[in-house]
Amino acid sequence: MPATVTIVDHPLVRHKLSLMRDQNTSTSKFRQLLREISLLLGYEATRELALEEVEIDTPLERARVPVIAGKKLCLVSILRAGNGILDGLLDLVPSARVGHIGLYREPRTLQAVEYYLKLPDELPERDVILVDPMLATGNSAIAAISRLVELKARSIKFVCLVAAPEGIAKLHQVFPDVPIVTAAVDRCLNDHGYILPGLGDAGDRMFGTK
Ligand code: URA
Repeated sequence: MPATVTIVDHPLVRHKLSLMRDQNTSTSKFRQLLREISLLLGYEATRELALEEVEIDTPLERARVPVIAGKKLCLVSILRAGNGILDGLLDLVPSARVGHIGLYREPRTLQAVEYYLKLPDELPERDVILVDPMLATGNSAIAAISRLVELKARSIKFVCLVAAPEGIAKLHQVFPDVPIVTAAVDRCLNDHGYILPGLGDAGDRMFGTK
């Protein structure tokens, strides 16, 4: 069965994303909006986390209450733009473990080249949420997921802000079981692999670089 694409189309998410698309939005505002939207994407992406019951004492009586089960969730950011979503998800799940995968797009072939990798241990016992704001060609996401599969992550979910139909198709062709959570699916890619209408280069917009 092909995996799901969940579009988080809550009015707050749509409004904030529209502000982010505007080229006149400042760097600091862009970062702030990304962090805010990431909380809402994270709410959706963590919906199926397993729970277990534990016994506690309320001020009035002993009670069985649900808590998140098992090893700590693992958030993995694709550098550098993934860090914008990571910050929001860490606000939501402060105790999560964090990994980083450094990938750059080779400008001619648009292929992803890995230059950095640091991940928490015990991935086979952890659910992983992989984050990168833009799912464009799908090459970076596929390279990162390949690593996580190689290291036997228990489950993998991909969270992005904007996805291109081409990126979704390619990702699901290679990894049909990886669910995608996104705020929007845009029209298409341009000849340079940028998403249209998109929001430009997410890393440059976050960090004020060119
Ligand atoms: N990466 C970006 O930052 N923006 C795009 O539109 C595509 C890839």
